[in-house]
Amino acid sequence: VEERGRNNFKVISPLGSIESFKSFSLGRDLIKALENNEMVLYYQPRVDTNTGKIMSAEALIRWEHPEWGLVSPAEFLPLAEENGLMIQIDDWVLKEVCNQMKKWKEEILWTVPISINISAAHFLKQDWLDTIEETIQEAGISPCDLEFEITESSFLNNEEIVKNTIYSLREMGINISLDDFGKGYSSLSSLAQFPFDVIKIDKSFIQNMLISKQNFFIAKSIIHLAKDLHIKVVAEGVETLEHLKVLRNEECYQIQGYLFSRPVPVKEFELLLQKKILK
Ligand code: C2E
Ligand code: CA
Ligand code: CA
Ligand code: CA
Repeated sequence: VEERGRNNFKVISPLGSIESFKSFSLGRDLIKALENNEMVLYYQPRVDTNTGKIMSAEALIRWEHPEWGLVSPAEFLPLAEENGLMIQIDDWVLKEVCNQMKKWKEEILWTVPISINISAAHFLKQDWLDTIEETIQEAGISPCDLEFEITESSFLNNEEIVKNTIYSLREMGINISLDDFGKGYSSLSSLAQFPFDVIKIDKSFIQNMLISKQNFFIAKSIIHLAKDLHIKVVAEGVETLEHLKVLRNEECYQIQGYLFSRPVPVKEFELLLQKKILK
């Protein structure tokens, strides 16, 4: 029996030991991976179903590990968190996105806003705002073309600091979205306290709304609540035409999910951008 985290014990079975060997090896290789440029960003379009156009896209990190192949963020981000590397990863992502947008502006004279996931640790870092401003300025892109996605776990215990940071980011021109809304520690009061530009309905509600009335009513309520608050609403995890139909019926038009596209490497995303209009 091996200790994992605080209270969870994991029994090592023949399979389990491969798994824990993998996570041991991933944890060990993380710092090197950042230095060696083994991380890559995939982009998933957010589509306006009224126009069929790509409105923006979310940058999602993957690790091209020399031995394990493409490793998903669900697998290595918890290890990065344990090792105190989230800030380094977020900084890398911001830089990479800014450089990519600069390239797009130069090469295809066109870009869409890109959203980035920001981890909770960042809100407690003193000089974070300076780093952001520098990175954006160096790339010469507009802050309006960036959106930061945060989850409610970020403001647990740090409401004042987080609120001030959000206001400063918005002052810079960066859009702020509330990710995974409805899941975990969600509380409606955060919508009254913090100025969000966008609410993203957690994909679990979308995925279950056709089989569970409860999930449908929750998704529907979030859509209407957002409308009353004059906040944009995006549905995540839209996989089928049936999902799309139900959402359109509730007047939720911004959508992200496998139905339109999975997160794809930059070259493939450029092809989607060139087409601009999806089926
Ligand atoms: P998230 O921010 O909620 O991102 C959405 C996740 O849903 C992505 O998983 C995406 O691939 C997946 N997804 C999108 N459409 C569908 C769909 O139609 N069906 C299903 N089943 N899934 C869909 P991914 O890329 O594996 O990322 C997982 C999580 O890892 C993200 O959840 C986010 O919390 C975190 N993450 C990913 N990239 C970054 C990053 O660059 N920085 C930070 N701090 N966190 C990241
Ligand atoms: Ca997200
Ligand atoms: Ca999400
Ligand atoms: Ca998330």
